[in-house]
Amino acid sequence: MRPSILFPLFAETRSLPGIGPRMEKLISKVAGTRLIDLVLDLPSGVIDRSYRPRVIEAEPGRIATLSVNVLEHHAPRDRRQPYKVQCSDDSAVIDLVFFRGQPDYLKRTLPVGSRRIISGRIERFNNRAQMAHPDYIVAVEDESELPLHEAIYGLTEGLPGKVMAKAVHTAVEKLPDLPEWLNAAFVRQRGWESFAHSIRKAHAPIHESDLKPDTPVRMRLAYDELLANQLALVMVRERMRGTKGRILKGDGRLQKKAMAALPFALTDTQKQAVAEIAADMETPTRMLRLLQGDVGSGKTVVAMLSLLNAVEAGAQGALMAPTEILARQHMTALAPMAEAAGVRMALLTGRERGAGREETLRKLADGAIDILVGTHALFSEDVAFRDLGLAVVDEQHRFGVHQRMTLQGKGHKPVDVLVMTATPIPRTLALTAYGDMDVSRLTGRPPGRKPVETRTLNAERLSEVIEHLRGAIARGARAYWVCPLVEESEKTDLAAAEERAKELTQALGPKIGLVHGRMKGPERDAAMAKFKAGETQILVATTVIEVGVDVPEATIMVVEHAERFGLAQLHQLRGRVGRGSGKSSCLLIYQAPLGETAKARLKTLRDTDDGFVIAEEDLRLRGAGELLGTRQSGMPEFKLADLSVHSDLLAVARDDAKLILSQDPELKSPRGEALRVLLYLFGRDEAVRYLRTG
Ligand code: ADP
Ligand code: MG
Repeated sequence: MRPSILFPLFAETRSLPGIGPRMEKLISKVAGTRLIDLVLDLPSGVIDRSYRPRVIEAEPGRIATLSVNVLEHHAPRDRRQPYKVQCSDDSAVIDLVFFRGQPDYLKRTLPVGSRRIISGRIERFNNRAQMAHPDYIVAVEDESELPLHEAIYGLTEGLPGKVMAKAVHTAVEKLPDLPEWLNAAFVRQRGWESFAHSIRKAHAPIHESDLKPDTPVRMRLAYDELLANQLALVMVRERMRGTKGRILKGDGRLQKKAMAALPFALTDTQKQAVAEIAADMETPTRMLRLLQGDVGSGKTVVAMLSLLNAVEAGAQGALMAPTEILARQHMTALAPMAEAAGVRMALLTGRERGAGREETLRKLADGAIDILVGTHALFSEDVAFRDLGLAVVDEQHRFGVHQRMTLQGKGHKPVDVLVMTATPIPRTLALTAYGDMDVSRLTGRPPGRKPVETRTLNAERLSEVIEHLRGAIARGARAYWVCPLVEESEKTDLAAAEERAKELTQALGPKIGLVHGRMKGPERDAAMAKFKAGETQILVATTVIEVGVDVPEATIMVVEHAERFGLAQLHQLRGRVGRGSGKSSCLLIYQAPLGETAKARLKTLRDTDDGFVIAEEDLRLRGAGELLGTRQSGMPEFKLADLSVHSDLLAVARDDAKLILSQDPELKSPRGEALRVLLYLFGRDEAVRYLRTG
């Protein structure tokens, strides 16, 4: 239950004076629907109105607050001309200028003979001071209504800054003093103040420097958010450790048979990962392990061997991929191993329907299927295993913590979970998303794989690229051609890709395929299959191919508008080639001029192909929020913390969270109670349910 002290903060924004349904909707776009969302929406700028010159001294271009007498109104004869109000102090005259001004309104707010305080940007026109549309016009006696330092908030079209600022301030006024959840000595040592005090201060910046992420105020708030995140993760984790797991101990007989079917030997890091996973499965606690490995580092084999380990132990296994293409690809790739080992494998995606699906479900329930490969269709209510022992989740960043828990509910006995991620995640991010999950890392690449030669090219040289392709195709090469990504609209992506496919066909002949996100499953699979089989030699694609597609014969990757892609994305795309024995190249075509960040990104790609280095660099260049496309990704979003700045705090918060829960596992002490407030405040209350008592 939400602590009652927080009730006022969880009221809807529409309960605020002046906020109707229209404003509520706009505010929900930028901040959220509850007062707490406004409270946590810190200003992004500040306007300083404390400059109070005499009119004659007022510098053009600056925001100034002036005290003036209203002299005359000049209504224009022509409505296209501005309405002017002449004012002055004892030093000079200033014109207030209003385009499409309403005479009635202006006469009311600026009556001739009155004294007014005005604030806005000073301009000069015909050697006279003027101010167009002052931000504030108040009577002298109402001077206190004029904020000398005005916080600026992120807005959206149709949402006036003043409405937003007022809403935020009203919300902040409702913030009660909350019990301190941090260690008092720690707060003192850092020079911090209470949460409520820090929030109030954060919303009342005076200088630009007050907005920096490393002020004590912002640090305190970032720390609170990180602590809530870490506490929640440790709680989920502890809960899992608390539940007894099961012992899954294979005898290696299936693994041995499967290995014999492989045309290669495992690398050392693969062997180590397999051993680490087996050791976890063997212990009577639940496994929650992350298998991190760069694109093409060979995670699939590790997963399969672990699944076989579960089957040897008499249980079933599940392998879940984020897309249907990938699920099918896993199915194909693993079939030889399954066959060699004599285990029964089946596929279940959203496309399996009717009698086939029924049969799969039945076999799954009575144990006639050992390993199920699929998409999130595995989460469906009606999917029941006879005895699920190990669940492997591929390309984890597409799933959330919640889904991970759902899958765990599938087995009658506790399920071991192995999470695979192809995007190397910087340590700091891994910590926020997975807490202290155990991690196996596949470093290096399987032997025989040559580095991909990476070049960046101005789009003006597109015709050279096409000529280069002509030669390569004649020699039998296969190439991907990735088309511009226009985030707003899938339609535009599609149009660009179709257009490019047409042009390439005209230039190079008919062996061009097309695959895009709007295609239906079977259509897309057919296009992929043709490319895999060599029936088409160039595959024009939107970023559908980003995740895990494996065509070892492909040796050329062309990316158009490379400047629009993120670093991690480009790295993933590049990882599609260099998978076979042929020498591979990656051509990143950019549209000049390049911004600084885009330049740095492309340089990083030319300089290194180490996914972990690239991930750290990506974090530095973009900040955590954008990384991996946070929203769809299940990665936590932070409102107050910025991991490119606050990663040190994250490590402290993690230690703090562990210590807290070791001393007070049920959060029952006074500090524990305060920490519950913190969890609710940051929307991590779902985790409270995982507390042991619960
Ligand atoms: P990812 O980590 O991206 O999932 P995959 O598991 O798809 O990588 O492996 C990429 C390719 O490398 C596959 O074609 C796979 O058969 C091959 N591979 C995996 N392990 C080895 C190895 N030890 N030696 C040689 N090739 C390997
Ligand atoms: Mg893979």
